[in-house]
Parts: sequence; C-alpha cells; structure tokens
Amino acid sequence: MAGGGAAGMIAAWRAARAGHDTTLVEANDRLGMKIRISGGGRCNITHDGPMSAVLAAFPAPQARFLRPALHAFTNQDVLDLLAREGVHAQARDNGRVFPVDGAGSAAKVTAAFEAVVRRAGVEVRLGARVRALEGAAPALAALVMEDGTWLRADRFILATGGASYPRTGTRGELLAALEALGVPVSPWFPALAPIPLRTPRPEWEGVALREGALVLRAGPEGKVVDRFRGDILFTRAGISGPAALELSRPAEAARRAGAAWLGYDLGAGDVDGDLVGLQRANPHLAVHTWLARRLPERVCAPVLAERGIDPDQRMKDLPRAARKELAALLGAFPLGEPGRGDLEKGEVSAGGVRLSAVDPRTMAVKGWDNLRVCGELLDVDGPVGGYNLQAAFSTGFLAGG
Ligand SMILES: Cc1cc2nc3c(=O)[nH]c(=O)nc-3n(C[C@H](O)[C@H](O)[C@H](O)COP(=O)(O)OP(=O)(O)OC[C@H]3O[C@@H](n4cnc5c(N)ncnc54)[C@H](O)[C@@H]3O)c2cc1C
Repeated sequence: MAGGGAAGMIAAWRAARAGHDTTLVEANDRLGMKIRISGGGRCNITHDGPMSAVLAAFPAPQARFLRPALHAFTNQDVLDLLAREGVHAQARDNGRVFPVDGAGSAAKVTAAFEAVVRRAGVEVRLGARVRALEGAAPALAALVMEDGTWLRADRFILATGGASYPRTGTRGELLAALEALGVPVSPWFPALAPIPLRTPRPEWEGVALREGALVLRAGPEGKVVDRFRGDILFTRAGISGPAALELSRPAEAARRAGAAWLGYDLGAGDVDGDLVGLQRANPHLAVHTWLARRLPERVCAPVLAERGIDPDQRMKDLPRAARKELAALLGAFPLGEPGRGDLEKGEVSAGGVRLSAVDPRTMAVKGWDNLRVCGELLDVDGPVGGYNLQAAFSTGFLAGG
C-alpha cells in the first residue's frame, strides 16, 4: 500500500481485516496530512443524504464509475466507523457533515482512522516515499523507495493522492510512473482552486461580490459556457470564494482552449429600467450613492472613474450612454480573462488514472493482475462539500477488498 491518506488508510484497514499482511508506506512522518487541514481544520467528512444524491453531485461519467464504491461504503458507513472511535458528526443545513467538536476536529478524525488502521494490524512505515514502480503488465514487481530499496508484494494498492498542496506530501509523481508503465492517465489539472485574473485588482483584496453568479464565457463568440451561483472574493492575484473554486476547472480548460472571460452576474434585474424610473422619481440622487447600494464601497469609485462617470453626478443629468454602461456593469460585472490556473492551490486535482482503465467494482487497473488504485489518484474530482473525501474513503474500501 502506498499513501496513508483518506483512501489509503481505509484500503489498508480493510485489507488487514481481511487477513492480508499489509504494509502501508507513507511519505510524511504522519498519516492523513490532508485530512488534518481539510475543511479549515474541521474536516467536512462527507455529504449527507441518500447515495444517489451524493453521486449526482459528481460529473456524470465520474458518478457512473463511483456508483459501486459509494454504495459499498456509504456516508453512513464512514460516520459509523468514526462514531465507534468516539468521533461524532452532524450534518449542517447545506448537507455538509462535520464532527460536532468544532475547531481542530480534523485532527480527531485523522486519529480515529489511524487507530483503526493500527488496530487492524497494518505495518505503517512513515517517512517512506515511493520513487518509482518496477514491473510490466500484467504484474507489478515492486515499489522502488526513495532510499533505493525495493518493496515487493503479491498485490499493490496505490493511494498517493493528487498533485495539489505538495507541502502536504502529494506531488503527483506516481501518475507519470503509471503512464510509463502503459496505464492510461489524464494529466493533472487544477480544480477547486482560486482563479488568477490576467488583470488582477489587488487593491480590492478582501472585497466580496455576493448573491449573484460567476459566469464563464468562452470561444470566438463569447458564449456563456458555465455559471455557478455563489459569492466571490477578490484576492491579490484574482478571485476566490465558493463560485470561483467551482468554476476554476472549466475556466482553466477554456483558457487553454484559447479564449475565456469571467463576469459576475449580480442578479440586479432590469437595471436600465430602474435607472430610467429613478431619474424621474429621485432626480437629485448622486450616482455614487445609488451604486454603493449595489456594489461594495471600495469598488464604486474606481469603476465609475474607469468609465469616466462623475460620482457626484445627479441622476437627472446622467447621459444615456453612462446609464447603459451602469446597467451593463451590474448585469455582468467584468472580471476579465482568467490567468494560468495553479494546480498547487486546488483543494483537489482533476486528472489522474483514467476511469476507463479501472474496474469500478474492485479498483483494479485493467490488464494488471496485482495493481489497484484509489482516491484522488483516480481521475475523480467532486465539488466542495465532503464529496471528495467520501469518494476517497469509498474507492479505498473497494481497493482494500
Ligand atoms: C486545503 C484542503 C481542504 C480540503 N477540505 C476537504 C473537505 O473538507 N472535505 C472533502 O471532502 N475534501 C476536502 N479536501 C480534498 C480531500 O482532502 C482529498 O480529496 C482527499 O484527501 C483525497 O484522499 P487521498 O487519500 O486520495 O489523498 P491524500 O489524502 O492526499 O493522501 C495521499 C497520501 O499519499 C502520500 N504520498 C503521496 N505520494 C507518495 C509517494 N510517492 N510515496 C508515499 N506516499 C505518498 C501523501 O503524503 C498523502 O499522505 C481538501 C483538500 C485540501 C487541499
């Protein structure tokens, strides 16, 4: 077993309980580093609800692949296992399930998984990084460790995760090793990451746009290709926040394809009509006062200056062109072109071992007799909300069976 994260711990636990001599090699000097930092240190363990609904949150091809795994080891199975170790959880209104303990609870979740792994009799080797894979289809011969030693086994399970947050141990290097052995893979790709902007607004760092939708346009005609309802937050380099994380993957894909633009639909309705009405009903209202009710204060002065609109101008004096500009601004607040997505900053990495190359009932790599893969090393990336850990636990469970 390589990789002592969410998937690897569950796989090792199940394999050892089934009576297999199980050795778990983990590059870090402790298990479950990513679980420890998950959910801001609280760990959003899974998502509540029937498994059909949990599956529906994944893109359709991923959901099809994950169905056997998520039914074999469900969200309730994960929570029962944790409860037996004294970690109790509850679902929030939005379906995200967290431990009841609050701050620091991710460390307790990790400790619970580690306890079941060790009790099952797994030999855990920490500070042990796999450097390469030795063998040829249909049989892997050994894991080549960083110190040059070979670790031989009858069966190998790879659970080394993705390529984001490399300081937590996940560098993604075994994907290239698998590809070299002929296993079909898709390259790593950023997902659930902040989106850098070609023209960032560092002076707006910390400002949020709320209650609207982030809209992605792409292609020669700038057609809307995706949108996600949720807040965004300006950062020094671009935007973050729930809607930015969810659109990061399609934004990067559109950018690579050649043309992409982002805007924020503030859901303001018929702004032009409202402005025309206001010019009659409240002719002395200053433009700046009106705009500050709809946009954060820090944003108002610069956007008016950039459009050559005097902030003190009264509604009655607002020229038609300026009125149209303001209406367009609130309809789709322009954010510009996305910059190059940063794989390292993603909560997950898209890409990985292609799902078509893996048996969804066992996680065995097709064409190989003794090789299984699970967790984020697979080409699976769900949305924020506990889905990714659940996918890791469930695929790990099947891989260890
Ligand atoms: C900041 C952050 C917050 C997150 N919060 C949540 C959340 O709240 N809920 C949720 O569902 N998902 C969350 N995720 C995503 C979730 O953590 C991952 O999807 C999940 O951990 C993947 O499980 P895994 O076992 O496949 O990989 P990991 O948990 O990353 O485990 C892989 C392990 O393999 C080890 N390893 C890597 N390469 C080697 C090698 N060559 N040799 C030996 N060992 C190796 C690593 O050190 C690591 O311990 C978050 C991710 C991040 C980065």
